Amino acid sequence: MSTILHHVGGIETGAADRTGPVYNPATGVVQHQVAFASKDEVDAAIATAAAALPGWRATGLVKRADVFFRLRHLLVERQDELAAIITSQHGKVLSDAKGEISRGIENVEFAAGLVHLLKGEHSEQVARGVDVHSVKQPVGVVGAITPFNFPAMVPLWMVSSAIACGNTVVLKPSEKDPSAAVFIAKLFEEAGLPAGVLNVVHGDKVAVDAILDSPVVRAVSFVGSTPIARSIYERASANGKRVQALGGAKNHMVVMPDADLDAAADAAVSAAYGSAGERCMAVSVLVAVGDETADALVAKVADRVASLTIGDGTDAASEMGPLITAEHRDKVASYVTGATAEGATVVVDGTAQHFDGDGFFVGVSLVDHVRPGMRVYDDEIFGPVLSVVRVPSYEEAVSLINANPYANGTALFTRDGGTARSFEFDIEVGMVGVNVPIPVPIGAYSFGGWRNSLFGDSHIYGPESIHFYTRSKVITTRWPDQTPSSVNLGFPSNH
Ligand code: NAD
Repeated sequence: MSTILHHVGGIETGAADRTGPVYNPATGVVQHQVAFASKDEVDAAIATAAAALPGWRATGLVKRADVFFRLRHLLVERQDELAAIITSQHGKVLSDAKGEISRGIENVEFAAGLVHLLKGEHSEQVARGVDVHSVKQPVGVVGAITPFNFPAMVPLWMVSSAIACGNTVVLKPSEKDPSAAVFIAKLFEEAGLPAGVLNVVHGDKVAVDAILDSPVVRAVSFVGSTPIARSIYERASANGKRVQALGGAKNHMVVMPDADLDAAADAAVSAAYGSAGERCMAVSVLVAVGDETADALVAKVADRVASLTIGDGTDAASEMGPLITAEHRDKVASYVTGATAEGATVVVDGTAQHFDGDGFFVGVSLVDHVRPGMRVYDDEIFGPVLSVVRVPSYEEAVSLINANPYANGTALFTRDGGTARSFEFDIEVGMVGVNVPIPVPIGAYSFGGWRNSLFGDSHIYGPESIHFYTRSKVITTRWPDQTPSSVNLGFPSNH
């Protein structure tokens, strides 16, 4: 069985003293081992990134941009290969894997505009003969730690902007599906990125802690579950680093009585069960306003899920693949089996569906009459389970969402512009959709939730990433001219 190694300084490295299994979730078979980096190995990768920093930050902006133009071309050209890697280790269906690649390419396209993005400001003649300008300089070596659920897109969220800004990177992808990150690092190098600018180390907490504790790493981007995001934020910021740590989610989709209920049901099914619910922007709570709306929606959703095809992601007929591990599948199932005792109604029980073989499959579930305080509502399940919460009014829907500890994404389905505008104004959530169930911003905007869905000040990718991955420097200049100088001990005034 092959061992997936680290990619440092353009070459494969790793002693592989400690390893973890990489499954094919559709078969349940361990297909690779992945090396788990020791602290020394991570320190060596950080040293490689530090050694590459002076050369990369001095590389001309146009030449830097060239790498991204070429990378975009390579990603498009080799997307089938990358999608196959994603599907074989994550389990999502191939069309979904390609979807994540195309969203990741948006971040590459954004980074290709780096000449424009890194412009500073200039003020001429702030005082007689004195000019001021600002520049954006890289922060240095950046740590990037990513989750299993988007093994290509989330690394591209981070490394595209970090590298565009002139930083060098040590990326620690999820140990569950680590190969996509290595594939991307190699493509970057094929596109002209010097070896050592983007390094990939695999592993667990040992590797992550080595990144968080290294005095050489100046900034850390993290995406993963809320408890880990919180601990990463606390540890890295205590070590004086700039940190953005994006956490978990519980995304509510509100359906008003005036909405197109068929379109809403289609959207809810797509957003709840796509990628087996393993998306941080998946809809996991359907908030139906009024019992009439709820009854109609539940019937329409149940009707649609009856015809979903679940199977191996490489099969073109499959609409949904397996979950990432057997443990995760069993945990997801436990929320459905426990829901009845909590007082909810299980309308569709996916745990009862039988699948041949040892893949980590579970059917989709629909649970009605869910309320806050039930585990099925309170926890991020991260699986194909859609809860329905019935509320009597728009105001109650907003209060429910604003009281939830997570605040990543939300959506409203209505035909009424006034209600939609109120929702945009009232709702306390980072990303909002109006008749759009998964409002992931395009690459030219930044992505991020509020409350327990993000620790730190900066959202990820887009304009906020340029701010996050650079330090600004303001330079005040005076060149000798005809004005006579004199000694003045007062504080410099421009008046
Ligand atoms: P996770 O938190 O288990 O792991 C994320 C990363 O942290 C991985 O690289 C993992 O190796 C590392 N890690 C795990 N335990 C650690 C520990 N104790 N100390 C240090 N590092 C540790 O998350 P996951 O299961 O890979 O991904 C799913 C989670 O990610 C979900 O909660 C999902 O909502 C969230 N997510 C959020 C976003 C977002 O943008 N907000 C996007 C994608 C996924």
